[in-house]
Amino acid sequence: MGTPGTPDGGRDELFDRLRGELTTEQVNIAAQLDELEETGGSSGFSDEGFADTAQVSAEQGESRMLAAELRRELDDVEAAIARLAEGNYGSCVVCGAVIPDERLEAMPATKWCIEHATV
Ligand SMILES: [Zn+2]
Repeated sequence: MGTPGTPDGGRDELFDRLRGELTTEQVNIAAQLDELEETGGSSGFSDEGFADTAQVSAEQGESRMLAAELRRELDDVEAAIARLAEGNYGSCVVCGAVIPDERLEAMPATKWCIEHATV
């Protein structure tokens, strides 16, 4: 006696695919962060041209904001990978409701159902 269409079976495949996407995302974000820290950091190129100082510090401020944003994304992605490993992935952290497949495909790092989404 088979149980056709076991929901778990279908989700395993989806989760495998999403795990791959999340891992790729994790590597990408980490690489971008590395790059930001190298360029936006303390590279002391040319002391001349003090007129550019304002522009340079504006750019540094921008890359700092970008870095903070990337770090937040990286946190979310890493938390999602951890939930996959723990078997909690795909459920809302607030109410425990199953997050619909299409929502997970659109935002693999999400941890909220539509009702509890903050964005
Ligand atoms: Zn919820």
